[in-house]
Amino acid sequence: MTRHFNFCSGPATLPQAVLERAQAELLDYQGKGLSVMEMSHRSADYMAIADRAEADFRDLMGVPDNYSVLFVQGGAATQFAATALNLTGKGGRANVIDTGIWSQKAYKEAQHLVGAEVIASSDANNYTEAPVQGSLSLTDDAAYLHYTDNETIGGLQFDHVPEVDVPVVCDMSSSILSTPVDVSKFGVIYAGAQKNIGPAGITLVIVRNDLLDRAQSSIPSMLSYQLMAANGSMYNTPATYSWYLSGLVFQWLKEQGGVEAMAEINRRKAAKLYQAIDNSGLYNNPIVERSRSIMNVPFTLADDALNSTFLSESEAAGLLALKGHRSVGGMRASIYNAMPESGVDALIEFMTDFERRHG
Ligand code: PMP
Repeated sequence: MTRHFNFCSGPATLPQAVLERAQAELLDYQGKGLSVMEMSHRSADYMAIADRAEADFRDLMGVPDNYSVLFVQGGAATQFAATALNLTGKGGRANVIDTGIWSQKAYKEAQHLVGAEVIASSDANNYTEAPVQGSLSLTDDAAYLHYTDNETIGGLQFDHVPEVDVPVVCDMSSSILSTPVDVSKFGVIYAGAQKNIGPAGITLVIVRNDLLDRAQSSIPSMLSYQLMAANGSMYNTPATYSWYLSGLVFQWLKEQGGVEAMAEINRRKAAKLYQAIDNSGLYNNPIVERSRSIMNVPFTLADDALNSTFLSESEAAGLLALKGHRSVGGMRASIYNAMPESGVDALIEFMTDFERRHG
């Protein structure tokens, strides 16, 4: 068996130890004679799995007691609508910071459902720098501020949490659990699982409890934070296996020393990759230093004609899924928590050798 280094932006690489444990438990979960996949979500055995996952996640993120943690479905994209409908029942519109493709999608959905205004944008700098703290001016009718902590495609990341006097809603799909955050600064945090949490199929929402009564009365039940919170995320059948696997990832993260320990490794991994890019004559990343993502590192080659050779040679070297998003072109290395530092070292070694041969 050979496992390659998988740089996919999502579904992304998972820790091998987690996959091995899932494999060992696949047919017979801890002597119960059945797979987790086949358990009732209301059984005592499954409830123990679900509760442990939530407790470990709360622990890792330092979620305060006055916040609910929800395990929902529909991906992060469903949260573009859910956040809008849950937070505007008492009036007001969304205010959105535009830093790239994902925040634009969040804006469009909120605009369509409840009305929205882009109050800051990285458009003027061609999406190479996130706004600085203090530069925001909200509309009078702002019900909440939405921003995307890390733009997975553009590789643009915030270096601060915007300070405003309305609830802050953050899409942390591609940066959650990569570095410590102060949850108390947020009204809502949401993240699709398939990057830093677990397999696709589940989405985590952290919501401050005093916001649970602000939903539009017409909100679909499945989007209602209040209903999901009141039912322990089991208003309907949850994505049980994704929830279980996410729980295994949380246990693995704790064994690694938690989010602080991961952050140190993540910063080191990103720094050496950006350094390799900056020091080369072939590769380029346009993002200003303070806004560079530590999770998704896009880079172009000086000569686009080399792209397909780069991709076929890297794949042959066991470095998978480096093709950049179609809207950006070039390459992108996603280096989430589960990408070991040795994977980044192997990528840098390949890039250096490729430049020597083709540069
Ligand atoms: N937000 C961000 C920042 C993302 O990277 C993605 C997916 N790549 C999404 C939202 C959409 O997530 P999903 O596919 O889970 O709906």
